Amino acid sequence: MKQPYLLLTPGPLSTTPSVKDAMQIDYCTWDSDYRTVTETIREQILALANANPATYTTVLLQGSGSYGVEATIGTAIPRDGATLLIAINGAYGQRISEIAEYYRIPHVDIVFNEDEAVAPARISEALATHPEITHFAMIHSETTTGILNPIEAIVPMLKERGIITIIDAMSSLGGVPLDMDTLACDYLVSSANKCVQGVPGFAFIIAKQAVLVETADNARSLCLDLYAQWQAMTKQPGKWRFTSPTHVVHAFAQALIELTAEGGVTPRYQRYHANQILLSDGMQALGFDLVIDPADQGPIITSFKYPSQHFDFDDFYQFIKERGFVIYPGKVSAIPSFRIGTIGDVDTADIKRLLAIIGDYQQLNR
Ligand SMILES: *Cc1c(COP(=O)(O)O)cnc(C)c1O
Repeated sequence: MKQPYLLLTPGPLSTTPSVKDAMQIDYCTWDSDYRTVTETIREQILALANANPATYTTVLLQGSGSYGVEATIGTAIPRDGATLLIAINGAYGQRISEIAEYYRIPHVDIVFNEDEAVAPARISEALATHPEITHFAMIHSETTTGILNPIEAIVPMLKERGIITIIDAMSSLGGVPLDMDTLACDYLVSSANKCVQGVPGFAFIIAKQAVLVETADNARSLCLDLYAQWQAMTKQPGKWRFTSPTHVVHAFAQALIELTAEGGVTPRYQRYHANQILLSDGMQALGFDLVIDPADQGPIITSFKYPSQHFDFDDFYQFIKERGFVIYPGKVSAIPSFRIGTIGDVDTADIKRLLAIIGDYQQLNR
């Protein structure tokens, strides 16, 4: 089967033929072959984040990334006596606030403009005025815009006060160097179909064992009980609680092999970064202004303003799609914009082809 276009979207994204091939075999979930694959993945995820296996563990969870975030919020935060501080500068931060509403978790939202990075000073102010805060959550790479939030400057302020910290690193883990041992956050959530370049189907949570072990009776959902999922996976190593996405797990194992073959997270970051710089410079030369200050911009996805009031995004999208690329509509409410991802099995030659197509579109619509 021929792939009709390359996805320039932040997940699902374009995977390699060998990752797709890994899904051609049907595996049995209780067989030792499969369980070994699961255990290997759990160990390799820790290595990706530079998380010491003596301190941290990985829990795999069926579903998309949001299932992982919800399971973490709903398990980490006790039913009573806890307050969650949430830093929000986009739709994914907002989603955490929505999860807190569903779970009736008292929460304090610090809301930034969507084109602004989370500012450490405002978090420190909030901590001073809200001594009741016990937990904190924020997004590392806010995929709404492409901002990379400064978690390294923020997490230590929370740790100092003994606040449990939860980082949504969905669209950064595997593509942006992260050092859990230094960061020392309690939970970090990501999923199969982003920078590791697997296919969609499960989320994973890196958790501090000493913290997770205290959460036994917290969950308000059977399927999203992170503690129970961890216990099941630990008691029978490699065995998932409930049916696991076997084909997806194998694709992920292959994706990890390919990440290692690329040289690991830093070379992958460099490839994404080179894609992003080429895209950003090329688009600006074609008349598309940036939404985000380059100082806050990450390598994952870039938002561009509509070049004029008359810009017809649907027409632009179709023109590009017919020529082999799929891009993303904008998600910033206040600014008419669209987004182009630079992650997945994509390199600068692809970005050059895309820029040539967009150049043709601009010529035709002048
Ligand atoms: C992709 C993503 C998620 C999860 O979204 P799903 O659609 O549930 O996979 C959460 N947070 C961020 C920052 C993301 O990029």
